[in-house]
Amino acid sequence: MTIQKATNITWHEGALTKQDREKLLGQKGVVIWFTGLSGSGKSTIAHAIEEELFNRGHLSFVLDGDNIRHGLNKNLGFSPEDREENIRRIGEVAKLFADAGLITMTAFISPYRKDRDNNRHLLEESEFIEVFMKVSLPEAEKRDPKGLYKKARAGEIKEFTGIDAPYEEPLQPELIIDTDALDLAESKDMVIRYLEEKNIIKKV
Ligand code: ADP
Repeated sequence: MTIQKATNITWHEGALTKQDREKLLGQKGVVIWFTGLSGSGKSTIAHAIEEELFNRGHLSFVLDGDNIRHGLNKNLGFSPEDREENIRRIGEVAKLFADAGLITMTAFISPYRKDRDNNRHLLEESEFIEVFMKVSLPEAEKRDPKGLYKKARAGEIKEFTGIDAPYEEPLQPELIIDTDALDLAESKDMVIRYLEEKNIIKKV
């Protein structure tokens, strides 16, 4: 539980609503929350979708793991408490971006179910799309795009998700993408089709 420290603060409502901004942009403001092991493809798919949406005239934005840890969350590490606070702040920022009308994508391991669910509950039901990037540990280790598994196996990184820190799979995600079986293009299409079906973006 995060304690509200400031007192005498009131929420300021502007004259324009989220719906006004969505109308201007011709899309719905949502959060697509990618979760999965390191190397499951969260970052790769999010940026591929961002590019496709841009080419189709839609505004989206990716909040990406390491980038956020360089700035907003530079004072947080990888202990369970810090991971929880990391994800809580990202959830709040993602909510602000979605309120701005953007298709907001987050690419964080976010290993704890409770933390993801807390962020889900910040938004309306249709506004939080949890996408489980499923990968087997051997496949993730084989990809090892940043060489992190190698370091974790060598004991150079502690508390590494999947090796010596837990990952809790989503129980009811909106989408499960089996990245052992599907390539990037097929995975991306699954998400784009979902956005079209839910009228978040227009069909082309
Ligand atoms: P993460 O952000 O989850 O740590 P990355 O996106 O950095 O993972 O790396 C994932 C790697 O897996 C990339 O090298 C990417 O090309 C590869 N890959 C294989 N299949 C897929 C897929 N279906 N979707 C996304 N990436 C995939």
